[in-house]
Amino acid sequence: MFFLMQKFVDGDRIRIKKETNSAVYEGVVMPTASRDIVIKLDSGYNIGIRPENAEIEVIRSAETLKGERKAKIKEVKEGVPFLSILSTGGTIASKVDYRTGAVSPQFSTDDILDAIPELGEIANIKGKVVYSILSENMRAEYWRKLAMDIYNEINNGADGIIVTHGTDTMGYTAAALSFMVQTPVPVVLVGSQRSSDRPSSDAAMNAICAAKVACSDLAEVVVVMHGSTSDDFCLIHRGTKVRKLHTSARNAFQSVNDVPIGKVYYDARDIERIRFEFDAAYNKRAENKLELRDKFEDKCGLIKYYPGADPAILEFFITQGYKGIVLEGTGLGHVSADWIPSVTRAIKDGVPVVMTSQCLYGSICDRVYDTGRDLLHAGLIEGADMLPETALVKLMWVLGQTTELEEVRRLMLENIAGEINARGGHCRIFQ
Ligand code: GLU
Repeated sequence: MFFLMQKFVDGDRIRIKKETNSAVYEGVVMPTASRDIVIKLDSGYNIGIRPENAEIEVIRSAETLKGERKAKIKEVKEGVPFLSILSTGGTIASKVDYRTGAVSPQFSTDDILDAIPELGEIANIKGKVVYSILSENMRAEYWRKLAMDIYNEINNGADGIIVTHGTDTMGYTAAALSFMVQTPVPVVLVGSQRSSDRPSSDAAMNAICAAKVACSDLAEVVVVMHGSTSDDFCLIHRGTKVRKLHTSARNAFQSVNDVPIGKVYYDARDIERIRFEFDAAYNKRAENKLELRDKFEDKCGLIKYYPGADPAILEFFITQGYKGIVLEGTGLGHVSADWIPSVTRAIKDGVPVVMTSQCLYGSICDRVYDTGRDLLHAGLIEGADMLPETALVKLMWVLGQTTELEEVRRLMLENIAGEINARGGHCRIFQ
């Protein structure tokens, strides 16, 4: 039996020889609370190895590797695009605090680059920390600042933008940016469900796929995240059609009422072999002129109707000075009959009311049942096949452009940033 251990620290590249099966593993030491040694292999996978009966040799110290990576990232590479990474926080910028077991956003952009050095091979990278927050703390004024930063980076010559973001409200931010920034280059939001120091982390693969998309010819605001529970492909979702549909699975993000724009087939061993497949039409690089339209009416509300819900809920929003309301109704777009007088009053008072569905899939069609027809009679705007949160963000944006009710209606029904499916997003079936 032998037990030979050279001292090592997190980030060192080590070689481990196991006496038991004479296997040899080489990789970078990851922080862990377990008694096993966790190393990240060159394939991108993390493995845990029992330290007993192992010969461990440090091949390169963490310090040396860090210096090498930094130098490589800073070196300007000819013939590759310039990307700006705007970091806002979330799990992709987080690590586990082994004292408390909690995950908190504590990585700077340099740390992200340090953790995912492949990014520096794909492009010339410039980083900026815009926020270090968990995305449940996002708000409309933060979207505005982010939109302004994106605009400035593109104006200053960035060939693509990556926004690292917490996954919880990434869909809202993606929708907000879709309306606020008309972009001639890719604007890619990316996050991760598991922090980069966890063995099953999705951070590296998502970020590498995002960087590839940010270098592509697509010029839209998109979300790029794992497409399956394996490490095989990422999906490219349009920013206005995407929702987090699972609390923890790596493929939590799915396009709703539309197909994803495309797929990025991942190859952990060779980033040169990563390839795209596009399944939908998209705006191409330089097709659009850069424009910032960041006027927003923050005081809009989203109300979920439930059986027996008191219409006083809607009245409360109106008395609190809300300027626009999105309802998440049932089925084709309903609330109970006793809500109709309150909806009618709100619209009469100049507050637009937009209907969406808690079904998520399918279009709003208020022409079928009595309650729907009464709502239409009251002046309700049908939210087509928009996600409730996209309709909310769009209403905020529309009310930033106009407060004239008929113009609000026209803009809410117009497809501005891919939020209404061009192939049948509006109610047709029952006409
Ligand atoms: N709740 C946090 C956020 O959305 C962490 C979740 C995540 O990033 O996956 O920022």
